Amino acid sequence: MTTSLMTTRLSDATIEAFRGNFRGELIRPGDASYDQARRIFNAMIDRRPALIARPTGVADVIAAVNLARERDLSLAVRCGGHNLAGNGVCDDGLVIDLSRMKGVRVDPTARTARANAGVVWGEFDRETQLFGLATPGGRVTTTGLGGFTLGGGYGWISPRFGLTCDNLLSADVVTADGRLVTASERENANLFWGLRGAGANFGVVTSYEFRLHPLGPVVMGGLLMHPIERGAEVARAYREYVESAPDELATALAVLMAPPASFVPQHLQGKPVLVIVVLYAGAVEEAEAVVAPLKQLGPPALDGVQPMPYTAFQALLDPSAPWGLHVYSRGEHLAGLTDGVIDVYLEYGTEIATFSPWSQTIIFRHGGAVARIPDEATAFSHRRTAYMAHPIAAWENPAGTDRHLDWMRRFSAALRPFVTGGVYLNLEADEGADKVRANFSAEKYAKLAALKAKWDPHNLFRLNQNIKPPRKVARRAR
Ligand SMILES: Cc1cc2nc3c(=O)[nH]c(=O)nc-3n(C[C@H](O)[C@H](O)[C@H](O)COP(=O)(O)OP(=O)(O)OC[C@H]3O[C@@H](n4cnc5c(N)ncnc54)[C@H](O)[C@@H]3O)c2cc1C
Repeated sequence: MTTSLMTTRLSDATIEAFRGNFRGELIRPGDASYDQARRIFNAMIDRRPALIARPTGVADVIAAVNLARERDLSLAVRCGGHNLAGNGVCDDGLVIDLSRMKGVRVDPTARTARANAGVVWGEFDRETQLFGLATPGGRVTTTGLGGFTLGGGYGWISPRFGLTCDNLLSADVVTADGRLVTASERENANLFWGLRGAGANFGVVTSYEFRLHPLGPVVMGGLLMHPIERGAEVARAYREYVESAPDELATALAVLMAPPASFVPQHLQGKPVLVIVVLYAGAVEEAEAVVAPLKQLGPPALDGVQPMPYTAFQALLDPSAPWGLHVYSRGEHLAGLTDGVIDVYLEYGTEIATFSPWSQTIIFRHGGAVARIPDEATAFSHRRTAYMAHPIAAWENPAGTDRHLDWMRRFSAALRPFVTGGVYLNLEADEGADKVRANFSAEKYAKLAALKAKWDPHNLFRLNQNIKPPRKVARRAR
């Protein structure tokens, strides 16, 4: 679609007429806030929408969806702006930026929380922790509830409590034809199934209701840091321990360049190190005995595992993930944490950690409650895998692009013998139609395509991990 065509569709007169039906903020090219408003987390993405609409409530969302449908605009929906592929912003067309739709209400008796569509995880955790309650959410506080939940959502506490989407009880959704519906196990149950794993495809979610679990406000957690020379020995011993540990023990391994921070021993600053991230997702009094064996491995050069507020633990990685970096990341499920995986991961992790201070090579340990939910229960797939490789190449200067992308290509190739073939689309910077299709079994994809045909036959919501409506339906619906 050409820019001139889009401009015709969104003429000044159209926008002025729309303004009369919209209470929130409208931002256009040339406005002082335009460049800031179109910016998302990943600096690789530089797109220029014709209009950014920031709704204040459901009626505004309906008005914006109607505008996009009636004018045949390309449409992006944005919450926290963290989507690495850039799905939260489009060229030309309309962005529905939900970031002004804040508000979380906790029901401590029912152990549920209702959150509006613009909430990010740090805001959500802050409210639920007032009551010592939590649901699995982002490992960085600025990630939005939207893309995260609708694409699955792995939080630190997922091995204990499941994916974020497993804790979704209901969602209010504005559909492509501008209606507001509720989806839950009781109402529109098929839509609810699709929302949990392919959720951006069927409408704009305006609020989420989550199940909460008792946790915090103080938990045992933090980082253990080892010199990279000990990496192989520590990673193997880590594997032996965590594979027989309870679901409460949430962990990840990472190779990164140790920051020049005062808490890091001076001889390690600026050097590649192996980090183990540890959280005990249970009572602090029970934690010591379970985390002690991990603290003894090595032993670590830095032991930062200690009692701390859950909200502080959730913010631990924030300094490593600032906005404005160029980022390319992958999320590949591993068949296991074999010696071969550890070797590849240490080799490539060490290589990038010698020149790239923002890059990290992470392996998350998952499984537990995530794996116990039957695969057919939600659209989300690949539940059985216990480990996920999450390499992140991140750089400030665009001149570093080729070098970082080359590293990622080589790392992915070296890892190929050890991956299951399944990816976690939310962590793929370049998800592409083939990966989306391959992410679901043929049966699941057919079920999702049928849902798409029912709820969004024209594929209005297509800037996402897109499920295509069957061709015949799309043509008939026109
Ligand atoms: C620093 C960082 C840390 C991360 N950590 C984790 C992690 O710990 N675990 C994990 O699982 N993933 C993680 N991710 C990946 C994350 O799940 C995805 O990037 C996700 O898309 C972010 O959601 P968002 O709302 O911020 O994104 P946005 O860019 O705002 O939106 C992304 C997509 O979601 C859709 N969307 C958003 N809101 C709605 C809505 N209300 N209705 C319909 N569609 C909507 C949009 O259409 C778009 O396709 C992380 C990403 C980053 C950058």
